Amino acid sequence: MTTLNDVRVGGKPIREWTIKDHNKALNDLGAHIYEPLDGVLVLGAGSKPWTLKVRMETGSGEEKETEVVDALACYSAVPFGHNDKVMVEGVQEFIGRMATIPRSISHEYLGPWLVALQEYTEMDMFLPKNSGTEANEAAIKVIRKWARKHGGKDGKGICDPIILAAKNCFHGRGFGSTTLMTSDLEGCDIGPLLPGIDHIPFNDIPALEAKIKEYDGRVAAFILEPIQAEAGIFVPDDGYLKRVQEILKANNALMVLDEIQTGYGRLGANFAWQFYGLDTPDLITIGKAMSAGFLPISCLCGKKEIMELFTPHTEGSTFGGFPLAAYVGMLTIAELKRRNMTQLAAESGKYLRGILADVAAKHPEKVKEVRGEGMLVGVEVFPKFEGHELSMGMLRNGVYAKETHKTNLRIAPPIVIDKEGMDAIASALDKTLADL
Ligand code: PLP
Repeated sequence: MTTLNDVRVGGKPIREWTIKDHNKALNDLGAHIYEPLDGVLVLGAGSKPWTLKVRMETGSGEEKETEVVDALACYSAVPFGHNDKVMVEGVQEFIGRMATIPRSISHEYLGPWLVALQEYTEMDMFLPKNSGTEANEAAIKVIRKWARKHGGKDGKGICDPIILAAKNCFHGRGFGSTTLMTSDLEGCDIGPLLPGIDHIPFNDIPALEAKIKEYDGRVAAFILEPIQAEAGIFVPDDGYLKRVQEILKANNALMVLDEIQTGYGRLGANFAWQFYGLDTPDLITIGKAMSAGFLPISCLCGKKEIMELFTPHTEGSTFGGFPLAAYVGMLTIAELKRRNMTQLAAESGKYLRGILADVAAKHPEKVKEVRGEGMLVGVEVFPKFEGHELSMGMLRNGVYAKETHKTNLRIAPPIVIDKEGMDAIASALDKTLADL
């Protein structure tokens, strides 16, 4: 049997590759789309579910193995941590059953997963996809279909619908998702973007009212993240989302929430719309934690009268809803429920935000704000400080967290992290801020 230790690439077993070897391959051969942390390589799960075993360059040019706390959980995708026994055994057990089969033949797992999804999300119908951006692309399609049939002031349909999106939300890298976003596009040189999409500021009711008035019956939907995660964990004002929902309902327009980062228990409720006491939204997109981090799984979920507008040949996906995804998706939901992860996220989130706020209070000249809900927390430093320095400092102090939008540090560890793990994050932040 070939094991990882036997695989030789570039003239040596990959386990013998140095960090410099890895960096060279990434720089020379990989498209430069991220700015990864320097001098560190993840080797695998650590001794605890929320730790990672890493190799790091020492100042003297050598490399040493150590463990760091994972305070990012792959942008909320890993609620149970990296080596959760139930998930690992479940995935391993399934792998032997079959590789994949297409949607043109039914399999034993998709139907049950859809029922589990319905129970967990409280939505009516589902379109399984792979990445988050694909779910958002499908949302744009079905919004347009719905608008042509049922949109407009009289509900009899409109031919030129407008989709509103909130500025600085993140929705992914497909063309539709990219058009929904206003950030990261400067100098991107990829236009023209999708027509029929316009932007308004997040957390701004008058702006929503003004655009609806301006388009005079053409606004078909407003899509937004309930909490802006990638932008730096911006939480809306109390009552904002409820008012948005009322306005959209009154104007026959759909409320579409991108719950890809806020869903699956992270805020201390299954979904943000429940956390904020909303009525069921018209559409939500979900992803990330759907497989507890083991597979790329996403889904567009919606009300029946909208989702039933999809017909054969207007949508599809080779891997969307494939057997392993459906099985792991079901297992994840079962484990979230069994372990009461929403309550854990609420309790641990309160503790985590509390200790991070205490640290921030010790460094008022450096930290502008700590904000968040549940286990999704942002620490914003004043603009004269570099977020990347903050991430590197955290790493040196034993914690992997990553800056977003230059001055924000996103902290979203696996929900199962214990108090000691959270204390380690706070203590690393304290040391890092002191050195900044
Ligand atoms: N929507 C939100 C809120 C996200 O945070 C992300 C990814 O970070 C996406 C969409 C895109 O997901 P994916 O990278 O799986 O396409």
